[in-house]
Amino acid sequence: MKTDDLYNIIRDVPDFPKPGILFKDITPLLKSPQHFSYCLDVLQQILSDYKFDYIAGIESRGFVFAAPLADRLNTGFVPIRKPGKLPWKSYQESYDLEYGSNTLEIHRDALEKGSRVVVMDDLLATGGTALAANKLVEKCDGTVVLDLFVIGLSFLNGTKVLEDYPTKTILNF
Ligand code: AMP
Repeated sequence: MKTDDLYNIIRDVPDFPKPGILFKDITPLLKSPQHFSYCLDVLQQILSDYKFDYIAGIESRGFVFAAPLADRLNTGFVPIRKPGKLPWKSYQESYDLEYGSNTLEIHRDALEKGSRVVVMDDLLATGGTALAANKLVEKCDGTVVLDLFVIGLSFLNGTKVLEDYPTKTILNF
């Protein structure tokens, strides 16, 4: 298995969820145990260069990668969720998406002061989602050591929005 195999298994869906958006569909990758496992291997290899306490996954496709990586690396998993889903006291942060706007939440006691955190999502587009997630980590007195993504849409310049944070993507379009 090589990185090209991961490129080839991402499905492009034009005009989803809105006209003009080319949606990168990762469900074929998740469906193939070989591809999914190899993708996790590549992400795990990147993370071997970082020291951290938690992987925070962004709902919902970020969860799919963050949770198995947290298990492989013996770190905790922290959910960053859409509004109204978390049962305990939470912090909120609103953000702009490539197609609309949204709010994310984290439990106020999700991190201990000074925790080192990797923020994980499936895809970096404009960077608004990840920036909001980073701010939530900081509201909990954590430090973001890396924003990690499977896919990066370079033409949307998300890394510029995240310029204050280390950022890595494995598949770049
Ligand atoms: P952004 O905040 O613009 O960086 O958007 C990133 C978030 O929106 C991630 O959670 C992605 O899953 C989702 N997203 C945005 N654009 C796309 C796209 N073209 N294909 C798949 N997911 C996308």
